[in-house]
Amino acid sequence: MSTTQIAAALYQLQQLDFDLERISNEQQAVATSLQDNSVLQQLRAEQKTAQQQLQAALQTQRSAEWTLEDLGRRLKAQEQRLYSGVVKNPKELKALEQEILHLRLQQDNQEEKTLEAMDASDSMQEKVERVSTELRQAEEARATQSAAMLARRDQLEARRNELQARREQLVTRLDAGLLTRYDNIRRTRQGRAVSKVEQGSCQWCRVILTPSELQRVRTSTELQTCSNCGRILYYDR
Ligand SMILES: [Zn+2]
Repeated sequence: MSTTQIAAALYQLQQLDFDLERISNEQQAVATSLQDNSVLQQLRAEQKTAQQQLQAALQTQRSAEWTLEDLGRRLKAQEQRLYSGVVKNPKELKALEQEILHLRLQQDNQEEKTLEAMDASDSMQEKVERVSTELRQAEEARATQSAAMLARRDQLEARRNELQARREQLVTRLDAGLLTRYDNIRRTRQGRAVSKVEQGSCQWCRVILTPSELQRVRTSTELQTCSNCGRILYYDR
């Protein structure tokens, strides 16, 4: 291989490594989002809390209804006593009337409480339904999203294998010392070891090459590096 061919192969290797890096990043993102169930978990927790609150509201409502029924029974019994004429003593009669009045007030009061409890149950019921609908929709969306994500994961895996195979093939054509040099420059220079020469400049750092540097890049039997950024220069004629 000529020096230019070697530089071209290294440049190609760099492109492959760049694509592999991008694929690896996306694979990571896909894996993370496949594992991320936080939205569903939150909605499930909300649904559970709402269901518990609904049970509590229904309990409060039932208890208010029982109290109201009890007051109704007591009131009816006292009214029956009053109208039956059994109580004749004016003082007792007065006390009975007072008690009936008191029970009626309590009944009114309890009716209001019962209505409030029913309202509270109704709105909790609505909340449970709302959250359940939201959860169902989120589960459906998640299923669609997961299917797309799994397809993308397979696609990325196939692409990665393909690039990896091309890389292995390319690497067999380059000698070990050169690959070590490539890896070292990559490590210390933001993952880019090779820079193209474009319109007489290093494409990476934009420094303008002198005519003699340009000449060496084109004709030397040694790989040339940029005097400014240290990357291997590749002249693509
Ligand atoms: Zn440079």
